[in-house]
Amino acid sequence: MTADDTPQGGHVFDLNVGETIDFHGRSVKLIALNEPRDAVRGVIRLPSVVIEIDGERENVPAALYHMPQVVNGVRIGCSVTRGVADALMPYTDVFALDKDARTRCWEPDAPLFGPTSLTYPVDQVWFASMTQLANERTYVDAGELPLNDFPNRHIYHHSGVDIGGYDKAVPLIAPVSGKLIRSGLEWAAGEEHYREAKYDSIVIRDEQGWRHGFAHIDMIEPSLVAGQWIEAGELVGVLGQTGSSGGWAHLHYSMQHVQPSGRYGEADGYPFVLEAYLHEHPGALLACARPHRTAAVGEPVELDGSRSICDGGEIVTHEWQLQNGDSAVGSKTVVTYDREGMYSEILTVTDDRGQTDVDFCVVQVLPPAADPAKTPPTMHAAYYPTNDLKPGQPIAFKVRSFFRGAFESNEAGEELWDFGDGTQAVTCSKGDFAERWHAYNQPGRFIVAVQRTGRNGCAATVRLKVVVG
Ligand SMILES: [Zn+2]
Repeated sequence: MTADDTPQGGHVFDLNVGETIDFHGRSVKLIALNEPRDAVRGVIRLPSVVIEIDGERENVPAALYHMPQVVNGVRIGCSVTRGVADALMPYTDVFALDKDARTRCWEPDAPLFGPTSLTYPVDQVWFASMTQLANERTYVDAGELPLNDFPNRHIYHHSGVDIGGYDKAVPLIAPVSGKLIRSGLEWAAGEEHYREAKYDSIVIRDEQGWRHGFAHIDMIEPSLVAGQWIEAGELVGVLGQTGSSGGWAHLHYSMQHVQPSGRYGEADGYPFVLEAYLHEHPGALLACARPHRTAAVGEPVELDGSRSICDGGEIVTHEWQLQNGDSAVGSKTVVTYDREGMYSEILTVTDDRGQTDVDFCVVQVLPPAADPAKTPPTMHAAYYPTNDLKPGQPIAFKVRSFFRGAFESNEAGEELWDFGDGTQAVTCSKGDFAERWHAYNQPGRFIVAVQRTGRNGCAATVRLKVVVG
């Protein structure tokens, strides 16, 4: 067999521990699941599986900004493990997983999505804002916090691809060509109403039967009509914070297809959207300090920049600048925090061509119980436009701080902005985004910091990188 028989998105195998399948004449066996839970919230953070391919064993991390890796000649990724799927089951059968883990296999040189890659679905630079990608727990909108009913309230386990951006401005782009089977509340004639229709979402079904759903759309492109054909790359709407967004502005992109269980289930879309971005930006260096971390005071937190991507080259250095003033060299470093807060740690990567890129690791340091005296706010910041910025060009910045539920009484202070070029500004968001405009006089890469401190003295800090050419 050749790579030519690769189905869209790779060969999917759901496996129980101890089970072996045949992939193009090679035996792929699931040896074990690793699903460690964190101390402060008790949820699975960085799951992985041990896979054996023709006798060679390797630990394969599940989703969470990992690209598939080559093990003994097979490119393999793990999109979800049992414990994560079970955490969603009280709500819905999102993954349609009946076994212990879901793997995807490709020949090493096969495209991940298909002969035609996806089109990157947002018109903005990579990691322009915060993200919650594929099984990452929600955190931007205080989703990690036990809001009102600790410990009974379930921590929301997200699925799908959340790409944060500037509210009401970022164009949303059709990732595939296909039939628009739903536009807002309107289903195409003859289509199965497989889920509740929402006014702020659309679903495109591609020719392979995958359903590509966008949600929290501020404005669906008015000319769209359910049932019509859409070409990849067409404008379908504008990014927003509507519906069940949690109040942070983002595209929720759900990619579902028929899984080995026979039911529609969510794919881990990260490898496909990253492939799409690299297709449109060949040679890119993309720092990755994600996913966010959650820890208690005094608990060691491992920051990890090893998921950074260098297309066509090699990363030669990883450097960390920490909020406590320390710096470190190496893809991984360990830090502890002596106070609750939302922190933003800076990763700079350099490749063998001399390019550099920056990303930020959000660390939420939380009390072990719902103690308002020790619970920090959370925050979302974004800017627009993000592409091809020029000196003197006005750029819009937005921020929203979240003091929610039992912690509402902590609401205090203002957002203090440092634009990274020696200028500052102040905003005071309340229940929505606050906005400031700024123009940079010189070209360069600027790191913007926004900070807000609650009544209890706990602060949230978020950062943005802005490249002015
Ligand atoms: Zn989402």
